[in-house]
Amino acid sequence: MNFVKPQPRIPPAAPLPPITINKRRLLRDLNAVSRIGIGDRGSVTRLVFSIKELRSRQFLIHQMRQIGLQIHIDRIGNIFGRLDGANAKPAALLVGSHLDTVVHGGKFDGTLGVIAALEAVRTLKEQKIVLPSPVEVVCFVGEESSRFGYSTLGSSLMTGEVRGKDLVHAADAQGTKLEDILASMGIYRNNLRSMRRDPSTIKAYLELHIEQGPILEAKKKPIGIVTSIAAPTRFRVVFTGQADHSGTTPMEMRRDALVAASELIVAVEKVCRRYAHVEQGRVVGTVGAIKIEPGVINAIPGRAELSVDIRSISAEAKKHVVRLVQAQIDEIARRRNIEAEILPLREEDPVPLDKRLVRLLKECCEAKNIAYEIMPSGAGHDAMQMAKITAAGMLFIPSRRGISHSPLEWSEPEDICLGAQLLLDSIIRVANEAI
Ligand SMILES: [Zn+2]
Repeated sequence: MNFVKPQPRIPPAAPLPPITINKRRLLRDLNAVSRIGIGDRGSVTRLVFSIKELRSRQFLIHQMRQIGLQIHIDRIGNIFGRLDGANAKPAALLVGSHLDTVVHGGKFDGTLGVIAALEAVRTLKEQKIVLPSPVEVVCFVGEESSRFGYSTLGSSLMTGEVRGKDLVHAADAQGTKLEDILASMGIYRNNLRSMRRDPSTIKAYLELHIEQGPILEAKKKPIGIVTSIAAPTRFRVVFTGQADHSGTTPMEMRRDALVAASELIVAVEKVCRRYAHVEQGRVVGTVGAIKIEPGVINAIPGRAELSVDIRSISAEAKKHVVRLVQAQIDEIARRRNIEAEILPLREEDPVPLDKRLVRLLKECCEAKNIAYEIMPSGAGHDAMQMAKITAAGMLFIPSRRGISHSPLEWSEPEDICLGAQLLLDSIIRVANEAI
């Protein structure tokens, strides 16, 4: 007698229900948010804890109220708008991004992810669809590091990833310390961990974001599915020489901190360029800010402070480059007889995203014949913090010429709507499946 080994029954992928977002409403809301903090040449500035960021948050809360979501705001100000699911089991699917921006940024960085999540949930509510799991639209506080040099603040606090020592050197250009702002909200070094949300209340996290790079446009693909996120190592370097009169100090007697800084800027570029063609170990390094004192035409700069940001999806390659750069700092200082101090800001390892979600997002694209690219993310996102406590997945849409953190940042409305629709499709899939 022949026994046929029973095959596990794999149910065929359920056809995606024809639930479609309202594109006009999505674009209208995106526009409404991008007008908050609008400046020169259509740039948008909504720094963390600024009045503009507050206004954009009010807009979101208002919209959430109109849909009838249950709103919860945690101590740092992360906003959660919850749509209940059919199950009593409370683990929720979180979907969102951030509303703060860099100085003179673009319209879509962060905002797209929040507003698309809002539109997805609004569509579900409108069509009276009850998913098995609850879905929460989330807006994280302070994803951008432009103000304090500290990125993904809200999501890092929520996932218990902020360490007291990371906050020591975090201050804005006016000297306001991040630690002081947190203290005003009742968040201190000794209770940082209390901000952590219980991971058992979260099923998964999804984030739609603009690519902020040129790959999708070059490959003519409307969707990117992110496999891993390159996290940065960041530090400040302070060169201290001697401020002197620019007319009376002979060249050989100078201890010019700015000239030392300029050598370091070139060194960072040179060291990282060596890795330019290494596919998996590519490293990028940037000196993005510099402050000099006294900073006047007739004085030799006595103090120069630079920010260094080094990233890679290979932890090993990044560590190696950081070591080389730090060796250069010592060498420059010794040779020029000036002091050099390295103030660590943040050191993080690259983060892989959830493989099951990558597969699920692929299937969502394939179900609709959408061309996609499987890719790493060079930029940091809230998803990299969320990945530490839950299954996290990310979708990208193309950025014109790869530009972002600039008023020239642009994504086509067609791609925006496609990304938002795919986000809704994947929310439905994730809510229905055991992840
Ligand atoms: Zn962003």
